[in-house]
Amino acid sequence: MTDAPDTALSPDAFSSDVAIIGAGPAGLMAAEVIAAAGRSVAVYERMPTPARKLLLAGRGGLNLTHSEALDAFTTRYGAQAPLFADLLAAFSPADLRDWATGLGIETFVGSSGRVFPVQMKASTLVRAWLRRLEGLGVTLHTRHRWLGWDERGALRFQRGDGSETTVAPRATLLALGGASWPRTGSDGAWTELLAARGVDIAPLRPSNMGFEVPWSDHLRERFAGQPVKSVGLAFADRRLKGEFVVTETGIEGGAVYALSAPLRDAIEREGWAALTIDLMPDLPESAIAKRLRRRGAESLSTFLKKSLSLTGPRAALLREFTPASELSDPAALARHIKGLSMVLTGVRPIERAISTAGGIRLAELDASLMLTRLPGTFVAGEMLNWEAPTGGYLLQGCFAMGARVGKGMLGYLGG
Ligand SMILES: Cc1cc2nc3c(=O)[nH]c(=O)nc-3n(C[C@H](O)[C@H](O)[C@H](O)COP(=O)(O)OP(=O)(O)OC[C@H]3O[C@@H](n4cnc5c(N)ncnc54)[C@H](O)[C@@H]3O)c2cc1C
Repeated sequence: MTDAPDTALSPDAFSSDVAIIGAGPAGLMAAEVIAAAGRSVAVYERMPTPARKLLLAGRGGLNLTHSEALDAFTTRYGAQAPLFADLLAAFSPADLRDWATGLGIETFVGSSGRVFPVQMKASTLVRAWLRRLEGLGVTLHTRHRWLGWDERGALRFQRGDGSETTVAPRATLLALGGASWPRTGSDGAWTELLAARGVDIAPLRPSNMGFEVPWSDHLRERFAGQPVKSVGLAFADRRLKGEFVVTETGIEGGAVYALSAPLRDAIEREGWAALTIDLMPDLPESAIAKRLRRRGAESLSTFLKKSLSLTGPRAALLREFTPASELSDPAALARHIKGLSMVLTGVRPIERAISTAGGIRLAELDASLMLTRLPGTFVAGEMLNWEAPTGGYLLQGCFAMGARVGKGMLGYLGG
């Protein structure tokens, strides 16, 4: 796909059937569906290159989707499960894998059931996808930042050199993403433009993010950056096994992200939340207490290492959150090892989150994802009010929405 010439064009000269703003997975999937049906599509992207968040996701291996059964899959979308049941019935995880195969990208199911490209990166997929879109006649206008609408209802863009241009397509798709990792281009600035048009938007909040823990200097200095592996985590009615990372300011990583929505909600309500950690999920408390009763004159750290292989950050966390008076009581210590209470005092900012919660409320949309207040303007992707855990559910949701909105826009254009 080539960049269109960046000259000062009148609105009509630049117009196409469809303008898609935002070259992420949702926008580009819609572009493919619409262009494949023979309609002219122009994609506008504020950054110098497209799909930067998708490429960033590729650094972690690009978890495209998940292999679990559809009914379990759709529950991952929580309150919005009915919408996603519908979207995934039309564009399923299997469809997404077939689509990737069609681009020459083979996928595999990892041990956790997550689906990745064999190459474990996004760049080859993005390159092949852009070539396919170019072949379909899609034009890409990078360094075009959408600024809203002019008085005639045309789309206003600011170009890289600061000049402005307008575009008057027959239908518009806004696929501008959420507000996490703004350096990828998705900065959430669209909320003001749509709110000014009366669109109801739930406040944007971090999703799949880390938390703040007031570490002692000792723990921060010795263990920041280290993984805490094979532990159990529990909050409210959810428990899981996994790993997380100690950071300078608290904790982050897979197991933490999986509990991040209820933890975030509790912290917003109460100002804090107590996360329970099982430091030895494979050993029952009674067996741990029995081993701890054998302690002789050796230091606690030597004894924990010898009797339970409890070392490094796991042993440090135990000391950090166990009252000094209970460190030499085998029964109390065993209780803490199986259920260490770690108080989280804050949520890490949206800029460092994997994804965004909040966004355009679904009540603003019709079944084709058109804004009912702004006929002809459609929306898709992370800018809508939904959230899902990591595991491929985010990208699957965005691709499925792109496919749905593409078909919806074709229906709107008619013929
Ligand atoms: C570090 C990281 C790792 C991730 N890993 C995974 C993973 O492995 N699996 C998974 O399922 N999900 C993952 N995600 C989440 C996933 O990448 C996103 O959910 C997905 O990219 C959202 O797609 P989108 O099309 O809605 O928006 P985006 O991908 O954010 O694309 C929106 C585009 O709109 C453009 N834009 C914004 N405003 C304007 C404007 N005013 N004018 C013009 N253009 C504009 C942006 O520059 C951007 O290119 C990860 C996210 C991060 C941050």
